[in-house]
Amino acid sequence: METDADYDVIIVGCGPAGLAAAIYTGRARLKTLLLGNEAAGGPIRGYEQVENYPGFPDGISGSKLGLQMMKHAVKYGLEFKLAEVEGIELQGADKVVQARIIREGPASYLAKAVIIAGGCHPKKLGIPGESEFTQKGVSYCGVCDAPQFAERAVAVAGGGDAGLTEALYLNRLASEITVIEQMPNLTASKILQERALAEPKIVVRTGTKIERITGEDHVNGLEIINLSTNEMTLLQVGAVLIRIGLEANTGYLKDLLSLDKEGLVLVNEELETSVPGIFAAGDIRHASSRQIAAAVGDGVTAALSAGRFIELKY
Ligand SMILES: Cc1cc2nc3c(=O)[nH]c(=O)nc-3n(C[C@H](O)[C@H](O)[C@H](O)COP(=O)(O)OP(=O)(O)OC[C@H]3O[C@@H](n4cnc5c(N)ncnc54)[C@H](O)[C@@H]3O)c2cc1C
Repeated sequence: METDADYDVIIVGCGPAGLAAAIYTGRARLKTLLLGNEAAGGPIRGYEQVENYPGFPDGISGSKLGLQMMKHAVKYGLEFKLAEVEGIELQGADKVVQARIIREGPASYLAKAVIIAGGCHPKKLGIPGESEFTQKGVSYCGVCDAPQFAERAVAVAGGGDAGLTEALYLNRLASEITVIEQMPNLTASKILQERALAEPKIVVRTGTKIERITGEDHVNGLEIINLSTNEMTLLQVGAVLIRIGLEANTGYLKDLLSLDKEGLVLVNEELETSVPGIFAAGDIRHASSRQIAAAVGDGVTAALSAGRFIELKY
């Protein structure tokens, strides 16, 4: 097929899924551009220690893992631009990817296939005080905002894996950590629960919901309600870290691709979306296991599928 495509494949997102895809498209000699709005590795750069990525029995820091993945992809010819992808349109079988290149401005690129690997962002509580005190004691990332938690009594909203991982990280910085979970039990994996419950500074309150974040210039407390007794109390904390789940980064895709009711991209077994030649990989797709190793596996599948698509259609 005749095409003016600038690239064989454009990948959106430089997390584990996007970088794994780039290694495979590069080795397949497909001309690849990766557009990512963060540095190499994406959010894993903030994880002090990744303990469950195969091949690293002593763990590896997220930033090192991300950098190694990027180095590996660049070795096979990856072109990377720091950019926010704002839209994708179809031009025949080609895809026009519209982006805002950081410190440069708008640009658009034509590709034969696109791999969406944009991941998710943390959900908000949506309660009074949350936006008012963001970065003034309200945070969504412990490592990124570590100084906000130092030497303070703090709270973590969310008793899942992400919440307890953060609580264990904050255990070294804060004077006391209260984990608040609205379900009757913690939902984190057993190993994280055991570790958190063994720490004297970590207190867990289940069946409890945060109703309001209070403060003047900075967070000074949380109004919390016990969901079985309806009793309202004020918990004095100097900061709160919110880890209550994730939302897909699919705002710019909702008119183009079929999404599930949570906004995650629907894909078939080859990770192809409802639009031929557009694939989705990692946390952003429906039914992902939301782990680094799973995202890497998805990146590989999406890259191989994109290669097959190009071979058949072009
Ligand atoms: C606190 C926490 C701890 C975790 N710890 C572990 C762990 O120890 N082990 C493990 O296996 N997993 C862990 N996970 C899960 C793991 O981080 C994810 O499963 C994995 O990062 C998903 O990779 P991804 O490439 O799909 O997406 P992401 O890693 O989210 O990367 C997506 C990238 O795309 C960028 N992006 C999004 N939209 C656009 C756009 N429009 N334009 C340009 N760029 C865009 C995003 O900003 C981001 O940089 C943890 C998660 C959390 C929240």
